[in-house]
Amino acid sequence: MKIYADNAATTPMHPAAMKAMLRCMEECYGNPSSLHTTGQRAKETLETAREEIAEALNAAPRELIFTSGGSEADNQALRSAAALGRKQGKTHIISTAFEHHAVLHTLERLEREGFSVTLLDVHADGLVRPAELEAAIRPDTCLVSVMYANNEIGTVQPIRELGAICRAHGVLFHTDAVQAVGQLPIDVQAQHIDLLSASAHKFHGPKGIGFLYARRGVPLTPLIEGGAQERGKRAGTENVPAVAGMAAALKEAVAGMEENAARLRVLRDRLIEGLNTIPHAALNGDPIRRLPGNVSFCFEGVEGEALLLLLDDRGVAASSGSACTSGALDPSHVLLAIGRSHDVAHGSLRLSLGPDTTEAEIDYIVENVRDVVAHLRGFSPVWRDLTEGKAAFIL
Ligand SMILES: *Cc1c(COP(=O)(O)O)cnc(C)c1O
Repeated sequence: MKIYADNAATTPMHPAAMKAMLRCMEECYGNPSSLHTTGQRAKETLETAREEIAEALNAAPRELIFTSGGSEADNQALRSAAALGRKQGKTHIISTAFEHHAVLHTLERLEREGFSVTLLDVHADGLVRPAELEAAIRPDTCLVSVMYANNEIGTVQPIRELGAICRAHGVLFHTDAVQAVGQLPIDVQAQHIDLLSASAHKFHGPKGIGFLYARRGVPLTPLIEGGAQERGKRAGTENVPAVAGMAAALKEAVAGMEENAARLRVLRDRLIEGLNTIPHAALNGDPIRRLPGNVSFCFEGVEGEALLLLLDDRGVAASSGSACTSGALDPSHVLLAIGRSHDVAHGSLRLSLGPDTTEAEIDYIVENVRDVVAHLRGFSPVWRDLTEGKAAFIL
């Protein structure tokens, strides 16, 4: 068995995306800024892709710029809103403690530059309460940034409600929608979104390409200075094949979205039910308001890293915490934010399913997680203390 259950870290490319890229590399190698026909051919491909992506979000093509991915889009969204806020004398930003590091580290830097940041509680279920957002807004608040869906525990925020509150208070609303684009329906107008970040490799497109949506009238500050590409908002010759691949991947994702989500929810719930039969284990985050393919668990008395490596030996590719923190021994900031203790947070496992996941694979995963957890507990001093009553079970 070879099972890929790490689609939240990255996804395999859709054949239509690869085909679009190959065609583009063969046929539109020109520089979109060149005035000759070869250049204009590339420019056309770029602008068609922009139109297609915009349509999928109910945005206008002019409201999108292409970036190197989700991290760059997050950085630019926050920096742009902060620059605008500074001009207006507003230097307060609201976000949450369990954002992606692309947001959290940018916020830390803005704090060092004189901004103040309020991080909203995401509660034990991993969900922001709209009333708490409203209460946190001050006259000097310039930006609210709340991720659409969490990359570790998969919880999906009430984006439209949060957006409506921001709009009513005249505060810019950014959402890191990297985990949501292609998985969940998005309408930037109906959901009152001012800024939105996305990344192609999370929806079966290529790596190193993404986009930032900025509502008309929201000025973007360039992070990269140079030529006048992307209407002066992002310098550098555009990666036309990657953009074409991203547009093709999104088209496929949107076309199959409902069917794929319905199928994934059934598999997800089967996996949750199976893992719940393991003693002293618990699901992280709300069981329903979560991404269709996300399952995140904590197992008491187990090291997540060891669990991950032993599962890899058995052919299952999963993740412990987020891809960005695995390798580091700090427990996941996401799990700490929903109130997991350090010990419990260390025993975390994320399984993120994809369109190729089958029921047989789910059953194989449950059986093998059960096995490996029992095996690891067999020689865990933490588990021994728990079973001998020297420490109290939490889960
Ligand atoms: C993957 C991810 C990012 C970073 O995107 P890159 O394209 O890899 O830079 C940002 N936010 C979330 C929620 C993600 O899952």
